Amino acid sequence: MALLEYIWLDADGNPRSKTKVMNNPPESLIHHGNIKVSQLPSWNYDGSSTGQALGNDSEVILKPCAIFNDPFRGQKNTKLVLCDTYLPNDDPHPTNTRYHANKLFNKGLELSPLFGIEQEFFITKNGWPVGFPDNRVDCPAPQGSYYCGVGGESAIGRDCVEKAFMRSLEAGLALTGLNAEVAPSQWEIQVCAHGVNCADQVTVLRYILMRTAEEYECGISIEPKPVSGDWNGSGCHTNFSTAPMRNVGGYDVIMSAIQKLQDRHVEHMAAYGKDNDKRMTGLHETADYNTFSFGVANRGASIRIPRETEKNKRGYLEDRRPASNMDPYVVTSMIFETTCLQ
Ligand code: MN
Ligand code: MN
Ligand code: MN
Repeated sequence: MALLEYIWLDADGNPRSKTKVMNNPPESLIHHGNIKVSQLPSWNYDGSSTGQALGNDSEVILKPCAIFNDPFRGQKNTKLVLCDTYLPNDDPHPTNTRYHANKLFNKGLELSPLFGIEQEFFITKNGWPVGFPDNRVDCPAPQGSYYCGVGGESAIGRDCVEKAFMRSLEAGLALTGLNAEVAPSQWEIQVCAHGVNCADQVTVLRYILMRTAEEYECGISIEPKPVSGDWNGSGCHTNFSTAPMRNVGGYDVIMSAIQKLQDRHVEHMAAYGKDNDKRMTGLHETADYNTFSFGVANRGASIRIPRETEKNKRGYLEDRRPASNMDPYVVTSMIFETTCLQ
């Protein structure tokens, strides 16, 4: 027997999941924990309960697209199975952004696009970040001690985040780091992977964070600006390079990519997450929502060129515009399309 947790995204991009018991799974799964996507069956769910179908024709089809270890059940025969969604006629569901992202990436696999995504989030209780008084009026101590902070007054919710971090590694996610962020109970975890795989991993990271927060009767908020006023919002800085950017002569390729991003600034901003305008005020380490800018080591610019990249004349760029609630399939594939396929 195998226990497969099928995960998909609902109409709002939130993860949902349910368990499939698979009788007589392949021998390789039982003995070595190995199984391929092609060995897993399609499944379906009630789309009328996820905002993705009407009650009189409610079935949405799940097709497995990526497999991860299940750190919650923790056995060889237990897996997290990421799925994308289809209509009964086999067309991709209108909310299936992975399908289109995958198609775009397949047009330029030789470019080896690599993404490093910095997922910021808050831990919430009753819909409000932990560490902010429940009356939603009084304020905790102002920002200053929280970023990479240590101690119970500064690092709020570490136990939950640490547990989710270790589980994500166990699942097989290619994480590159973890830090406490600028506001109380705000944290960041970074994921680095090629092509569509990066967005898959961000999706599973969000899932593992939310599942882990359940144990604390808490939620995870990826809203870009959960607390207004003098508090940082949350972003999803997207670091990006292709093989030509990483190789000799890469700096020119990076500069021309930045020019192309500038030309499509308005379209990118429209796709970079709901309520991102509330976060991108030009304050709190953000650029202005309506103004494209770039600069070396500039954390107030739309695009930051890392100091190392300038020095080595090759490397990567950082798009600082995406909001924490961005659709990683849309954002990664759009950056790739704009800079490499135009
Ligand atoms: Mn960061
Ligand atoms: Mn950060
Ligand atoms: Mn960053």
